[in-house]
This record gives sequence, C-alpha cells and structure tokens, in this order.
Amino acid sequence: MNDFPLEPDRSAMSEMGGLVLDRVVDFVERLPDRPTGNTTDAAVTADLVAAFLAPPPEGPGDLKALLDRLDAAADCALETAGPGYLAYVPGGGLYTSALAEFYARGINRYGSLAMGAPALTALEESVLRWIAQDVCGLPEGSGGLLTTGGSMATFSALIAARHDHLGEDLEAGTVYVTAYAHHSVAKAARLAGIRQRNIRTVACTEDLRMDVEAAAAMIRADRQAGLRPFLLVGSAGTTDTGTVDPLPALADLAEREHLWFHVDAAYGGFFRLTERGREQLAGTERADSVTLDPHKTLFLPFGTGALVVRDPAKLYAAHEGTGDYLQDVGSAGGLPNYAHMGPELTHEVRGLRAWLPLHLHGVAAFREALDEKLDLAEEVHGKLAAVPALEVPWRPDLSTVAFRVRPRDGGAEAAAEADLATRELLARINANPRVLLSSTAVDGRQTIRVCVVVHRTHRDRVDEVVELITAEAARL
Ligand SMILES: *Cc1c(COP(=O)(O)O)cnc(C)c1O
Repeated sequence: MNDFPLEPDRSAMSEMGGLVLDRVVDFVERLPDRPTGNTTDAAVTADLVAAFLAPPPEGPGDLKALLDRLDAAADCALETAGPGYLAYVPGGGLYTSALAEFYARGINRYGSLAMGAPALTALEESVLRWIAQDVCGLPEGSGGLLTTGGSMATFSALIAARHDHLGEDLEAGTVYVTAYAHHSVAKAARLAGIRQRNIRTVACTEDLRMDVEAAAAMIRADRQAGLRPFLLVGSAGTTDTGTVDPLPALADLAEREHLWFHVDAAYGGFFRLTERGREQLAGTERADSVTLDPHKTLFLPFGTGALVVRDPAKLYAAHEGTGDYLQDVGSAGGLPNYAHMGPELTHEVRGLRAWLPLHLHGVAAFREALDEKLDLAEEVHGKLAAVPALEVPWRPDLSTVAFRVRPRDGGAEAAAEADLATRELLARINANPRVLLSSTAVDGRQTIRVCVVVHRTHRDRVDEVVELITAEAARL
C-alpha cells in the first residue's frame, strides 16, 4: 500500500483496469443471450436496492468484491443494449465509445472553454460540424453543442429561440407542436418561461403528421388575438410511430410567419446518413435548430445529445455569461467556448465518445447499420400487415412499426375490446425473454411498437420476434 491511496501506482492501475475491462468484455459478449426484461425476483431486487442505498464505508474496499456487487446490479435491469430490446427508443452503446469515455475520463481535460484543451475542443467541434453540416445539411458556419441528451438540447434551442424572438417579454409568446411531439418540447418551453396555455397543439392529418393548414390558421388567429407566435416545432420521427412531419412545408410556414423553426430529430436525425433517411427527412436543412440523440441512432451509450443551430451566435447571445474569476480566459484558435452556448459551465470533453467510434469504424459502418434498421422495419411492416388479426395502419417512415389488434367492426365497443386484446397481446409477447416491446396510445387506441435501433439487432432476432407476434396474435 502506498502513502496516497487515491493515487494508485502503475501496477495497481493496470491491475484494476484489467479487472474492469474483463467484466465489461464478458458482459458485452453475453448480451445476445441475456433476457430482455428484468428477471431478478422482487426479494432479490429489494435486497440489492437496500444494500446499494447504504452510505460508503470509512475504510477501503476490495475491487473484485465491489465489481461482483456491480455485476449483480447491472443484471437487475432491463436489457436496453441487447438485440431483442425493441421498446421505447433503444440505445445500444458502442463498445468503442465506452473505451473513448474511459480514455477521456482518464486524462480528465476541461471541455468547456477552448483554452482548456484546444485540440480536443477542435475534435469535439469536428463532431458538431459533421452533425450540423454533413448529417443535417445546415450551411457552413453552423455548429452547436453536445449535451447530455435530447431534452437538454431542446431546452437550449427553446432558450435561443425565445431570446431571439421575444427578448425578455415572454408573456405573449406561443409555441406550436402536435400531440405526437415528444413531451420534452413542452417541458423545455415551460422551463424557458413560456406559459403552459401558450403551448399550442396543432391538429394532425390522418397519417399523424402536422396539418400545415391548421398550423397556419392557428398562428394567424393567435397573432390577431395579440399573441406573439415565435416557435414552430416539427418532429423528424415521433417517438410513438416514427412519423416525420412535413418538414419542407413547415419550413415554408416558419419562413412566411417569421418563426424559429426547430426540428426534433432526437430519434430520426442520424437516418439522414442513409439515402432513404435523407429523403424522408428533407427539410431538416432549413431548420434554425435541430435536436439529435447520438445515444439513440448513433448507438452511443446513454448521456449524449446534440443541438445544432444555423447561427451559433444566437446560442451565444442567449447563454453567454461571465465573471471576474474568468478574466484570464482567452479565446483559442477561433474555437467555440461551449460553456457560453448552454447552461453548463464545467463539463467533460464530450466529443471523444463520438469521435473515436466515427474515426475507428468510419461513417460507412454507421450508414450500413442504419440502412439495415430501415430494411428490418420494412420487413416487420410487410409481415405484420399480412396477419389478419392485426391492424398495421402506417407504413414506417423510419425504423418504427406500430400495430394493434384489429377491431371486429367500427363501433366503440369493438374498439374497447381491441384495446384490451392489444394489452393482452403485448403481455404475451413480452413474456418471452428474447424480446421487449412497449406500447403507446395513438388516436386514443392502444398500439404496440417495434422500434429497431440497437446496432446489435439483426434479421435473425427480428424474424424471431415477428414469428412470436404472429403466433400470439393467432392465439388471442
Ligand atoms: C428520446 C427523444 C427525446 C428526448 O431525448 P432524451 O435524450 O431522452 O432527453 C426527444 N424527442 C424524441 C423524438 C425522442 O425520441
């Protein structure tokens, strides 16, 4: 034991690193065979929870024993990283991103002000410019900010839009979303000081897309009533059904009405790497700001979102802050100070966790993986649409397929029966540890979703899931 236990020597560092690495490699290797749901029984879960709630001891512990405890905790969980996890919007977690993160934490560079580590800021900026310009199609000069997730990205977009259009006079500001917009948009608007009643829900057409005429009428009426419409939000893939709003028409409307146009591409954005995705998500390039979630469709581990904006000066204008204690901070090589573009001051160098996988695997590997997800969703749609007991109302725009039990007729009683049967079907499907699906309500009707996003999900597992759904639907 050396005199400074917080500073292990070289051999201790290597030994500890090796122990952790082995566990992680074992864990990742076992992923395909692990049950998708949490199979830990209630009593064991209660014991684990109680044990983990305990405060830390006064003296040192044993790493091996602590890792054993951690493995038990990691097992007591939904298997969000495995190939059978098709619920909500999954996140697989690239191994190479975990390695990047270990490196980034090991060197512990300051990631918030460019002078702290200019070359690593440039690395992060390369990721942001790639997302803004190559992925989203925003013009040169666009940029943004890596956040902890989509919700934080949307929050900063809301703040920038508010500052740019309303200044400090927020009372009359109105925001336009649909009922299928992610709840993080309304949450961000409330956090940004927008009145709940000024968050407008625009009607959708039958295919679940924002009705542009309805939006235009609402905006006109609000303006006539003395309100100040300032923000239009389009979804580039809703969480419910993966539906893409008519982004080009929304961009036209926003331009005509002088609104800030935000695109929520938290789920869908990276599909723009594929040809089909680029077609579906055309119009994204006309946004003032776009939310993406690398921890979803770039397969990164949880904790990484991205906000990209047409004009970073507007992010600065809304977020910049300073203090005398920062008087020694200079600029570095024309690089951004991310601390002035969002609410956080101190944070890690976030870009490395995307940069290393992108440079190691190359962009084509991501494009091919996303193309595969689109193929799989098309296949799921085709096969489920052929099952007589099921209703599969919407062809997937992206990688989410929504289905439900077909009611026997158009009456309210039949719809209620079908809702119950859909709940029952979901329970029966999820009783199988090879798959996990989640549900939602679309137009008030219970609806099950298959969301193909984990990079480890391939045709074999998807075929297995479709067979299971088909068999259980026949047994209802
Ligand atoms: C996941 C999601 C969000 C929220 O992102 P978080 O990373 O969970 O904060 C917002 N919008 C859509 C469409 C999403 O799928």
